[in-house]
Amino acid sequence: MASLPSLALSGSVPKLDDYLRKLSNNPLPFEKDLSNQHSSREPETSSRTSPQPIDFKQALQLLQEGTEFNSTIYAPLLRQCIEPKSLSSAKAIHSHTIRTGCCSDPYVATAIVNAYTKCGATYHAQQVFDEMSVRNVTTWTALISGYVRNSDPQNAVKMFIKMLESGWEPVCFTFWAVLNACCDLYNLKLGEQIHAYIIKSGVSSIVAMGGSLSNMYSKCGNLESAIKSFECSEYKDVVTWTAVISACADSGRSQLGLRLFIDMLHENIWPTRVTLTSVASLFCASQDLQLGPTKQYHAFSIKCGGESVFQVRNCLMYMYLKCGAIEDATRLIDNMTSFNIVTINALIAGLSKMMGSGKDGTDLSSTKVEALKVFKRLKRSFTKPDMFTFSSVLNACTGLMALECGTQIHAQMLKSGVLSDAVSCTSLVNMYGKCGNIEDAKKAFSEMQARTAVSWSTMIAAYSQNGRYKEAIELFEEMLAAGVKPTLVSFISVLSACSYACLVDKAYYYFNLMKDHYGIEPDTGHYACMVDMFVRLGRITDAFEFIERENFEPNEIIWCILIAGCRSHGNTSLAFYTADRLLALKPKTMETYILLLNMYKSAERWEDVSRVRTIIKEENIPYIRDGSWISIKDKVKYFVASDRSHSENDEIFVFLEDLIEKAKGIGYEPYKAIHASDGEEEKKETRLVRHHSEKLAVAFGLINASCREPIRVIKNISMCKDCHSLLKLISVLTDREIIVRDSKRFHKFKEGECSCGDFGVST
Ligand SMILES: [Zn+2]
Ligand SMILES: [Zn+2]
Repeated sequence: MASLPSLALSGSVPKLDDYLRKLSNNPLPFEKDLSNQHSSREPETSSRTSPQPIDFKQALQLLQEGTEFNSTIYAPLLRQCIEPKSLSSAKAIHSHTIRTGCCSDPYVATAIVNAYTKCGATYHAQQVFDEMSVRNVTTWTALISGYVRNSDPQNAVKMFIKMLESGWEPVCFTFWAVLNACCDLYNLKLGEQIHAYIIKSGVSSIVAMGGSLSNMYSKCGNLESAIKSFECSEYKDVVTWTAVISACADSGRSQLGLRLFIDMLHENIWPTRVTLTSVASLFCASQDLQLGPTKQYHAFSIKCGGESVFQVRNCLMYMYLKCGAIEDATRLIDNMTSFNIVTINALIAGLSKMMGSGKDGTDLSSTKVEALKVFKRLKRSFTKPDMFTFSSVLNACTGLMALECGTQIHAQMLKSGVLSDAVSCTSLVNMYGKCGNIEDAKKAFSEMQARTAVSWSTMIAAYSQNGRYKEAIELFEEMLAAGVKPTLVSFISVLSACSYACLVDKAYYYFNLMKDHYGIEPDTGHYACMVDMFVRLGRITDAFEFIERENFEPNEIIWCILIAGCRSHGNTSLAFYTADRLLALKPKTMETYILLLNMYKSAERWEDVSRVRTIIKEENIPYIRDGSWISIKDKVKYFVASDRSHSENDEIFVFLEDLIEKAKGIGYEPYKAIHASDGEEEKKETRLVRHHSEKLAVAFGLINASCREPIRVIKNISMCKDCHSLLKLISVLTDREIIVRDSKRFHKFKEGECSCGDFGVST
């Protein structure tokens, strides 16, 4: 965002900062008195309305009494009908003109057409127009503009074509009207034809028409032409500036849009609420948005009265969330006089989607916890949550595996009657599925009144993740039988079920069905499922052959699956070859490097160890601290390895050590580092693994959760072998179901087994 122009405030008047001063040699705007700058438009001058010698009511009375007047009386009287939109008065005057025969005067008839359209009576206007024996260009223009004003662009265009056919030359006002009709119709082709016609009618018109043309191109989505017309436009008002700025936002050209906004300020054009909204969405779309410019824009929009505009406020909220400034985002709703559900939804959705601000991987849950807090505040207010609120807050629960909280929200949804909505119900199925509560997921799915392809995919994924492969495949078949077109995601779910269940033929069948019958090109997700399946079966050569045959370039995840497979099936030479291919990709995550380091260490290939370390340094790979969190009742606890920061420390460690001792009795062999470079490091690593975060979180859960309730833990990186084997035994020792969702897989430990089939845990 370094090159992004930023706005600074000084004193009571917004000023552009030094950076912007460098951008332009012109004197900076908004340094003068603000009072006369609130509108760029010329004020309406009194000369526009003709002096009225006669009182309107009196004149109307006289007309109704049959008094004869000169025809010049009608136009000013008709103009007076416009402001109060008095159709009855316009009709009375019209009748009088018929009686006096003045309606045959084109000047009077045009005034009638104009008054009727401005009173919303285009039908009457058209009638008068049709009856006119002599028309002029003003009459045509009045009718065309009238149609545009009354949201009937089709008829405006129709009349415009008739006008040309009758041999009339349009004037600027006619072009303005018909270009607006093109905007309303989003008809770029017609707009271009009119542009060509304007060119034919003379260059001076182009200059005058620049703003309208730019508007038309902006609204019809042709940014390039919009900018061209804009640049050669003589008169640019705030509407034109705003149209071209928002066209930049629509085309994702944030930098250009912001530069234009700055130019607009230089021209002393004061932004309207619409401009502020467009600029806010430009900021939102910026790739590298930073907190500084966000805060400056916030302050600037307060000065312009934009904070009260909910679109601006929503954008500001997204901007803050994007910068990770949660406090600033939530503060926006603190200042709200009344809760607006759209803003609250924006906040909850933003927070639920965010992955925390901890750079080392810690505290990933904090934003989701914040989303739940905002939802609680909403419950205390008089604002009712809607289906979007429920959907977003359920996503936060899913992210935290906060089943209890999710169940409460389900109850609230029942009360609010939003259960007919497919999106929020799908979030419900997802929440139950990802919390490992497959029965409730199934129930929520079966009770859905309307299902989308996403709902089906979500339920298939839920079965697949929870180790219910047969049901996953059956449901997929049911989906096809119901005539629902499967999506890319549904195929990933069914392929992963086949992969877990090692059903090679079925997997191939679905893989080909996807490509040949549904025309969906496989992506890395589908390839990963297939490779994963071969590796599980120990068919490493088949996995490589599949890659060769399908002719795709494996990504980091697929190479990691292959390396893990090669190692667990004792094919070290192939593992080293694969590792070289992976390293050539310059992997992005620390987990991948740890996998490689462990592999090289255990093979005592110290040169490779230092090679990997160098790449980590060169690529500036952030270190991820081992972290897990557990949600019990409405509290979320976060643990790191060997974490002693909790008040229940002693109890947790004593309980865990006791479990470790008992587990040893039934075959557990605690991890002992033997490949570390020195003795001290060895001890440290052994200690860390012994108290990895998920072990502590599970111990905490076993102490605090109500008995029989499964323990649900989320981990930020993949589980290690040691934790995996210990948790399997703990599930036996405590007769409890333990669910761990790590960065790569879903592990459901029950009676000494894990749903993942012991596959894919890092070594
Ligand atoms: Zn571990
Ligand atoms: Zn597992």
